[in-house]
Amino acid sequence: MRKKIVAGNWKMNKNLEETGVLLSELKAKFKNTPSVEVIVAPTFTNLYYASQELKGCDILVAAQNMHQAEGGAFTGEISASMLKSVGVELVILGHSERRAYFGETNELLSEKVKTALRHDMTILFCFGEELEDRKSENHFSVVESQLKNALFDLNEDAWKNIVLAYEPVWAIGTGETASPEQAQEMHAFIRKTIANAYNTKLAEEVSILYGGSVKPNNATEIFAKPDVDGGLIGGASLNAESFIAIAEAL
Ligand code: PEP
Repeated sequence: MRKKIVAGNWKMNKNLEETGVLLSELKAKFKNTPSVEVIVAPTFTNLYYASQELKGCDILVAAQNMHQAEGGAFTGEISASMLKSVGVELVILGHSERRAYFGETNELLSEKVKTALRHDMTILFCFGEELEDRKSENHFSVVESQLKNALFDLNEDAWKNIVLAYEPVWAIGTGETASPEQAQEMHAFIRKTIANAYNTKLAEEVSILYGGSVKPNNATEIFAKPDVDGGLIGGASLNAESFIAIAEAL
């Protein structure tokens, strides 16, 4: 059975003190349910602190990005082994903000994915179409090529470490959500695309999260769809009450 996951991407929010407050609130409200994995992704400077604070609690810590090289002269960058050394086993790659503001391409992401896999990290791989793609009815082909160019040269075994997060760019931080039907339609398409590239068993085992303005008041409906295995949450993950409410909707 595939994993159900709710992950919070805190982006460039919360300094050390604020991170401490949010983590304490989360720990106080969090009820561990073995069927749902809960993940938070604080900023780099607070990852070590978060991984220490969450020891003994079933909330996992992810990084929001990672460099593809093992190390060296890459001023300002963070490597996989640095993340692992502070207790971080998961990394978000391919977020639309990284693609849009930092020029990350599918080819670069393919390298990052391979580096993370070499370090046995779990990858939350984000992808999704822009508004123009949907308007011009190219959303399926855009999503297919994002997957193909970044992930489809991986061997089957590598997919044990991959979680997908379909995030239509037009729904991120905009208050505009894909309807549950639009999310289901795309998630089913993604599963079919993976089944064609690999096989049905693998496609059925991959968790596919939806991301884009998920809030406590729309999470239940979206998560009820059969191919939606959880959510990647931005804005609503910055508040313990709303994030936990979303996790409980799964
Ligand atoms: C995100 O940034 O991944 C995201 C889904 O943001 P929001 O929930 O704020 O739309």
